[in-house]
Amino acid sequence: MKGSMEEILRFVEQNGAFSIISHVSPDGDTIGSGTALSRILRRLGKRTENVCCDQVPDAYKFIPGAEEILLPEEAQGFDAVIAVDCADKGRLGSAEGIFDRAGVTANIDHHGTNTMYADNNVMEETAACAEIIYRLGRALGAEIDAETANCLFAALVTDTGSFAYSNVTRDTMAIAGELIALGADNSLINRLVYHNEPAGKVKMHAYALERLHLYSEGRIATAMLTESEMDPFGPEAYTEGIVEKLRDIDTVEIAAFLRQKGEDVKVSLRAKKYADVARVAASRKGGGHPRAAGYTEYGITVAEAEKIAVQLAEEELQACWKE
Ligand code: 5GP
Ligand code: MN
Repeated sequence: MKGSMEEILRFVEQNGAFSIISHVSPDGDTIGSGTALSRILRRLGKRTENVCCDQVPDAYKFIPGAEEILLPEEAQGFDAVIAVDCADKGRLGSAEGIFDRAGVTANIDHHGTNTMYADNNVMEETAACAEIIYRLGRALGAEIDAETANCLFAALVTDTGSFAYSNVTRDTMAIAGELIALGADNSLINRLVYHNEPAGKVKMHAYALERLHLYSEGRIATAMLTESEMDPFGPEAYTEGIVEKLRDIDTVEIAAFLRQKGEDVKVSLRAKKYADVARVAASRKGGGHPRAAGYTEYGITVAEAEKIAVQLAEEELQACWKE
């Protein structure tokens, strides 16, 4: 652990109104952790607002409170600001102004690459940020109602591939069990997260995966989409899950999915068993976890970015073999 829960507890006790910020291109963990934290703080009589610089993807609109998440320009910007699931300030996107104008800030996160950028920080490498939020709620003595349990459970399910990843611990499972006891609906959330895709998303995945490339005797897989290729199928958020399908290929250790974002390219990386893609992402000023990380290339085409990603992946595999 870096930082401490005590810092965060003191910070919560000493403030009355909080802006809670979720990261760019929000995923289930940052949304579920943010909305759960909001509900926990409100139970304690605090005022809160949830902020994210990007719209909540349709797939996560079922998370209680997701409909209340504000764009930075709609937010009030309270004196106390908390970033959840954000490894560095860049992850706040255009909500960074709210963070910079705050009187006092906190950073609650589970990425080992966290830069400890707030006045009060807690970083623990749990499987999902939601685990830390659950423990914070307990430490604050706040009631965790069924809806809060659903927020946290959705965050756990999405960040762990339904409790399948190697960073899932006994504590992760124990918290999941507690959440079910508190009213979280395991089967509903799993169906909504993993078995409920719009046809356009399935077709976008098919299009990207049909064009996948393999390198290093099949140990590296890549797929890429330009904006004009994505457009006919649906929004960028439909790309979620492509990189996992690449990783699931039996021979693959490192998967990279690249998508155009205007002049830039967003790269999502996954490793299966031993490679450390957080190290790869960090070398391009990104970050994440050893088996799931990402970064952005600026002013480059997807094809150029793919060449770099493959080169870096090959170097990472070679470094692993030497270690
Ligand atoms: P995804 O590929 O699903 O967008 O992200 C995988 C993991 O890497 C997530 O934990 C996410 O927070 C982290 N990540 C993705 N892109 C970036 C980035 O540009 N910077 C940092 N610090 N982390 C990232
Ligand atoms: Mn997370």
